[in-house]
Amino acid sequence: MLILRYWGRVSSLNPERLLYKTLIEDQKLIKMTTWHHKVSSLLSEYNLHSISLYLKYNKTSWDLKVKNNIQDHFQSKWEAKLKFSSKLSEYNTWVGCFGAKNYLNSTRLEHSDNLAKLRSGGCFLRIETGRHEALPREERLCPCCHKDVEHVLHFLLHCELYTSLRTKHFKLISNYININKDTMLKEVWNTNKMSILFGSSNNLQLNELVMAYAISCFRTRRNHLNLKKKNRFWTRHIT
Ligand SMILES: [Zn+2]
Repeated sequence: MLILRYWGRVSSLNPERLLYKTLIEDQKLIKMTTWHHKVSSLLSEYNLHSISLYLKYNKTSWDLKVKNNIQDHFQSKWEAKLKFSSKLSEYNTWVGCFGAKNYLNSTRLEHSDNLAKLRSGGCFLRIETGRHEALPREERLCPCCHKDVEHVLHFLLHCELYTSLRTKHFKLISNYININKDTMLKEVWNTNKMSILFGSSNNLQLNELVMAYAISCFRTRRNHLNLKKKNRFWTRHIT
């Protein structure tokens, strides 16, 4: 973005300025490695290639135009990738819209990191670790209950290992929504819990409650699997 902003400044200089003359000389060179060539590629990539376009804008407008076009370009690529990514299918279902979510503003880094992993598919669940082992999707079973594929939906909403946690934390979330009398949030919580549990609301306090639930599930899972591992070890060595 900085290089394009700078190009705008230089292009609008008085033609008598040395820097402007340097730019013009640079444009005349046909080498692929010139600064002008690099800028031209960027202008073309972000649909800003017409110099006349710049002339319509002052400095502030040009900077804004550069920022918006780069964002549009990135968003288009992001949406195309999301559409065809099986890894991000859950993200696609419950997040959908482009933009930073405010759970990232949490000061509890372990909490926000855990939720970000769940949202992006880069997590510890069998749906993801089984992918690295080239295991068919239907065989990536939950190691805690063995009753379903361990995807995010199962982890956050259905796995029986977390039933008591779910009761406790869902009550806290419901209470918060009721106290705030936010009818839209209430509607989403009643009809599409995963959207809330995925941290997609723009309510940081609510997201803190959601993250507290997710991290509790994660710790319970880790303790449960460690205990199973220890039991297997002792069983092998005693028998
Ligand atoms: Zn389970």
